[in-house]
Amino acid sequence: MPIILTYHSQILSGNAYANNDHVALAADLALLGVLGRPIVPLAALFDAFDGRRDWASLWGAVVLTFDDGADLDWRDVEYPGLGVQPGFAGLLRGHRHTTGQPAMASSFVIASRAARDAMDRRSLFDRGWLSDDWWREAAAGDVISIESHGFDHDHPDVNPDDPGRGNFSRIDDAAQCAAQIDVASAEIERLSGFAPQAFAYPYGQSSAFLRQQYLPCEGPRLGLRGAVSTEPGMVSSQSDRWWLPRYVCNRDWRSVDELRALLEGRGD
Ligand SMILES: [Zn+2]
Repeated sequence: MPIILTYHSQILSGNAYANNDHVALAADLALLGVLGRPIVPLAALFDAFDGRRDWASLWGAVVLTFDDGADLDWRDVEYPGLGVQPGFAGLLRGHRHTTGQPAMASSFVIASRAARDAMDRRSLFDRGWLSDDWWREAAAGDVISIESHGFDHDHPDVNPDDPGRGNFSRIDDAAQCAAQIDVASAEIERLSGFAPQAFAYPYGQSSAFLRQQYLPCEGPRLGLRGAVSTEPGMVSSQSDRWWLPRYVCNRDWRSVDELRALLEGRGD
């Protein structure tokens, strides 16, 4: 069965696998190369749900997703105290060069520039690492697709005075869903040139209304083909395409041996 893996490029506290997803992704790509596991775009799963692709062709396939869309997904940066960190895109290109196989991932970006600026100021280093200046180049290429992580992530940095912030489950009526989903898709299309095909729930949280009613009804009108949660599990034809399971690096696995166990179905 296919498996979706999740990495965060901006959360790092050292240069070891367990505290740095750049180190982890590099090691995991090497493992996937050794195991000969195909890396397929998220769209391949949607093609299977749509009957345009055989599920059997996705046996053992791995989908890579990056959450929050920091610039570290795309470019190398000098990280304070930790040295140069290789952008995830460069790691994917290296994998393709080494194995001769395609390697594409999806970056789930936050649409609102004001929200990104607030998060960058309060939670990163105020160096502009949540920019959108790479989205258009990425979206037109074949290494990273640009997908939706909502309008503002309902992030506490955006409006610190709102005590309810930081809880995406509270997005539970049509107006709030439109403000987070529809507006995000339009803004991401404006900035990247392409409408997102996938949505990732901020914090992995969703109201029943959003995932069971709003997205299945309104998502296709926006060009959305599915959504990913952070519930651990493998994907199958029986999965809910609006609540696809994903494993999260350094939550669900913490070493290449643990990833190997997950890939072989021994991780749960
Ligand atoms: Zn997020």
